[in-house]
Amino acid sequence: MSMKEESYDIVIIGSGAGGGTVAHALSTSPARLLVIERGDFVPREEENWDPEAVWKHLRYQTKERWLDAEGNEFSPYSHYCVGGNTKFWGSVLYRLRREDFEVVEHVDGVSPGWPIDYATLEPYYERAENLYHVHGEPGVDPTEAPRGPFPHPAVPHAPRIAALVAELQQHGLHPSPLPLGLRDGCILCRTCNSFACKIHAKSEADVCCLRPALERPNVTLWTKTCAQRLITDAAGRRVQAVELRRNGETVRVHAAVFIVSCGAINSAALLLRSANEAHPDGLANSSGLVGRRYMAHHATMMQGFHPFQPNDTVFQKTVAINDYYLPGRLTDYPLGHIQSQGRTHAVMAQTVVPWIPLWAYESWVSRGVDWLVMSEDLPCRDNRITVEPDGRIRLHYRPNNVTPHKLLVKKTRQMLRRLGFWLVVEHSHGRRNTTHQCGTLCFGTDPRESVLDPYCRSHDVENLFAVDASFFPSSAAVNPGLTIAAQALRVADHIKETELN
Ligand SMILES: Cc1cc2nc3c(=O)[nH]c(=O)nc-3n(C[C@H](O)[C@H](O)[C@H](O)COP(=O)(O)OP(=O)(O)OC[C@H]3O[C@@H](n4cnc5c(N)ncnc54)[C@H](O)[C@@H]3O)c2cc1C
Ligand code: SF4
Repeated sequence: MSMKEESYDIVIIGSGAGGGTVAHALSTSPARLLVIERGDFVPREEENWDPEAVWKHLRYQTKERWLDAEGNEFSPYSHYCVGGNTKFWGSVLYRLRREDFEVVEHVDGVSPGWPIDYATLEPYYERAENLYHVHGEPGVDPTEAPRGPFPHPAVPHAPRIAALVAELQQHGLHPSPLPLGLRDGCILCRTCNSFACKIHAKSEADVCCLRPALERPNVTLWTKTCAQRLITDAAGRRVQAVELRRNGETVRVHAAVFIVSCGAINSAALLLRSANEAHPDGLANSSGLVGRRYMAHHATMMQGFHPFQPNDTVFQKTVAINDYYLPGRLTDYPLGHIQSQGRTHAVMAQTVVPWIPLWAYESWVSRGVDWLVMSEDLPCRDNRITVEPDGRIRLHYRPNNVTPHKLLVKKTRQMLRRLGFWLVVEHSHGRRNTTHQCGTLCFGTDPRESVLDPYCRSHDVENLFAVDASFFPSSAAVNPGLTIAAQALRVADHIKETELN
């Protein structure tokens, strides 16, 4: 029986921050695009905003199980759906700081420079902010690089947060509005970060990118379709086709350009699974770096608790503190970034210590104010993705550069105590936190030291690009989404110039 074969001009694999954005940008070209997504559309339903469905029953999280370095199974906190993880993100959409593009000394080594600088990405940041409707206020954050106005004004602080901001300023800090991607109709509800927006008011790749792109006749989306491997010509210089599983069948799709965007871990796994005679160690892997240099941030959730001050804030995620982001204030190395978080729900808290009754958590979280503390981890060859003989993903990750993070957590605890909170609790998913995964196909100018060139084209395979978070040479310490989107727009321009003329 012959295998089903199809042909398009450009195939994009994955529809998240990178894939969705690049599809939107290329949809205005005459090229026939096929977007392949292993998941389906997230339905609009009551469960979108139900903490029990989301946190207890993990309704939208992938059921896939990965292995850690020791071979223990775990459930990755990842979502396979149209829009990818953007569908569930907090929509905090930061530009990297100018210094993040440069070489920076850290406690455990060096955060490497990027092959492009802030000025190169700046116009694409601006376009990405427009595409994702970012709200913010320029000129308040002391670490902010030069920029024009935000497309929308900052989301105002709720009274409790405004009072905390005033106190923080009295303590000599410089709190700034969090840049947030929100669309018309947002009701600033309590179930944003980690939930899908039931009314489609969150700026994410499904509603901002995929749906508008699909209105054009040249764009096709195949959902519930998983890319298995990429097939090259005999010399290994060009990808000829992608092999997919779709409706229980294997299908081959041929194209002139292939853009991989499965998320940093799955993109590396796809290239490793695509090993062939010309690429025995995995596709595009002459550097030996495919799957290596995995990073994911150090992230700790912190909650300040006051027994006599119920927190009636509904939408709390509006403020950031970057006073410790750059070296100088406390230490001669960077510590990282602090942001207020969406409200913790009792069921969410109960996943940490399940035997504590829900009512106790209800009472606790109703008096808490939530924060996220984030620091940079450094690229290291041994932190890597491998693929088991049965195709399963294995994640080898040993945290590094933890000293600055511990110090920032300590500093945040002190800060919250000074703000009057009686007790501060903290929680981290540690090495299994894959939400900010990046770095597994890093970009650079030297083919021996990078997988992709500065336009995210593979050094080894001329018609292969990767536009998800895998290209990051360093993880910086702010949320990665806007940088992924900005670079995807830049890559789309490059593809239009070089491949479609
Ligand atoms: C709960 C949560 C909150 C977050 N909050 C923020 C935030 O506020 N700000 C921010 O900047 N970042 C945030 N992030 C991180 C952000 O979502 C990711 O950095 C971003 O989505 C990564 O984009 P990507 O294109 O690399 O991959 P993804 O968005 O993960 O997209 C990858 C897509 O590829 C698909 N796919 C994978 N393998 C295959 C295959 N073999 N075949 C076909 N399709 C495939 C997946 O189903 C998925 O749709 C958050 C993440 C989570 C989980
Ligand atoms: S309504 Fe606004 S705050 Fe609520 S989930 Fe949607 S985008 Fe987030």
